[in-house]
Amino acid sequence: MAKQAIVVGAGIAGLASALRLRHQNYEVTIIEQNNYTGGKLHAINRGDYRFDLGPSLFTLPYLVDELFELFNKKPNSYFNYHRKKNICNYFWEDGQSFSASANLDEFISDASQTFNEPIENIKTYLNKTEKKYQLTSNLFLEKSLHRFKTYLSLDTLRAIKDIGVLDLNTSLNNVNEKGFENPKLTQLFNRYATYNGSSPYKTPGIMSMIPYLEMYQGTFLPENGMHDISQSLTKLARDVGIKIQLNTKVNSIKTFKNKARAVVTDSSEIEADIVVCNMDVFTAYQSFLKDLKPPEKTLHQERSSSALIFYWGITKAFPELDLHNILFSENYKTEFDHIFNKKYFYKDPTVYINITSKEVKTDAPKGHENWFVMVNAPTNENQNWKEQTTYIREKIINKINRILNTRVENYIATEHVLTPVEIEKETSSFKGSLYGTSSNNKFAAFLRHPNFSSQLNNLYFCGGSVHPGGGIPLCLLSGKIVSDLIDHDHSK
Ligand SMILES: Cc1cc2nc3c(=O)[nH]c(=O)nc-3n(C[C@H](O)[C@H](O)[C@H](O)COP(=O)(O)OP(=O)(O)OC[C@H]3O[C@@H](n4cnc5c(N)ncnc54)[C@H](O)[C@@H]3O)c2cc1C
Repeated sequence: MAKQAIVVGAGIAGLASALRLRHQNYEVTIIEQNNYTGGKLHAINRGDYRFDLGPSLFTLPYLVDELFELFNKKPNSYFNYHRKKNICNYFWEDGQSFSASANLDEFISDASQTFNEPIENIKTYLNKTEKKYQLTSNLFLEKSLHRFKTYLSLDTLRAIKDIGVLDLNTSLNNVNEKGFENPKLTQLFNRYATYNGSSPYKTPGIMSMIPYLEMYQGTFLPENGMHDISQSLTKLARDVGIKIQLNTKVNSIKTFKNKARAVVTDSSEIEADIVVCNMDVFTAYQSFLKDLKPPEKTLHQERSSSALIFYWGITKAFPELDLHNILFSENYKTEFDHIFNKKYFYKDPTVYINITSKEVKTDAPKGHENWFVMVNAPTNENQNWKEQTTYIREKIINKINRILNTRVENYIATEHVLTPVEIEKETSSFKGSLYGTSSNNKFAAFLRHPNFSSQLNNLYFCGGSVHPGGGIPLCLLSGKIVSDLIDHDHSK
């Protein structure tokens, strides 16, 4: 009889783990508390506008394709996407703007001209970005960091030999300040710290490898927006016989002799040979794993930042904007101090505007746009979010109006708002953080929760709150690490 695997949570990592376990011939059931799959990768409609609720930036699409290929399915019969020619449009308060080309040579030449930066500085910086990624991705992103075997590889020896290149003992901001003469380029490359919810003034310089993904591997958009990712994987999961039980919350597990024996929901007890937890590991130890000893050190790590998002149906087209747009704060350092230390909004926030209708024409009526307007936010510490939302909404509108020379408030036809409280409530993400723990110190990668339990030998963990961290590509990789571990630990 086939072995039973239960996956708790239908986030992107839960779906990936479930598919990989199904491929190993497990009978797989995903149990999801919401009435939809995808977790943070969800979407809504408001009037004639469609909005992706969570992630907007898509890199390394081959990690999604791989899941279809496992079952000999053609990825493009489920899931299509295209590569963007332009990475992002950046705007500053002094009127300067910059369109970052996805063509590396074009980016280097445009950036050199726009910011009056010596070409050699940009080339040297990007070469180091590539080197850091090549040296560390196999070690830090593709394997468990908590198994001895990982350290016995050539890749590890190479990373140790070149440890100086990794800039572990300095901050990303210091690396960028040293790399560029123009502070605007420093700010542009500092922004990559937010890709894992960290501060550029605290996260180590190794994070300058993040732009490698965008600038060398490209940025992509699925044909019908980001929601396609979770929905196409959900369809695949059903097609290959994975059961998905929606509206069902896992409340506890039953154990026997260091093993999880069954998961318990409101309505039933489901026996399992393997349990994979995709929900936020912090919340998991407070809820369905509360009988296990919590790993205190791990659970006390600083959380990544959260976000506050306005989803606006806009009755006008803005040709100066593209799919991804950033309106920078004039004082980035103070903004991050507010997010991570003061825990409330800074008066001049960096505003990110994502507009999928630039590419997916059905996402808004003709001549209109669907704006996803996001500011980085502190984690939920029971601030007065109603007050904070009103405060920051006005600051955002003023900033957009100043920089784009408009009256955006006159064009908002529909509005939906997501605060850290809703992010926490809807996905059980502890304190509403977007990416689990922050990477605000050089040991963060080692302090993330492992992909397996040290207490129950058939309990595993995937998703943004565990190794290798948050964001779609890393969550997909966590699904791969978990299935490799299960194969190694249980195939006999
Ligand atoms: C606003 C926002 C913007 C983001 N932007 C980007 C971006 O541009 N690019 C990018 O790559 N990433 C981005 N991210 C991060 C990315 O969305 C996450 O890292 C990723 O989606 C997390 O996936 P996950 O598998 O960890 O699970 P989650 O999406 O967190 O899902 C966990 C699931 O578990 C379920 N669950 C919880 N408890 C239980 C229980 N007891 N029983 C049953 N089910 C349960 C939840 O309902 C949920 O569906 C963003 C996130 C947000 C919120």
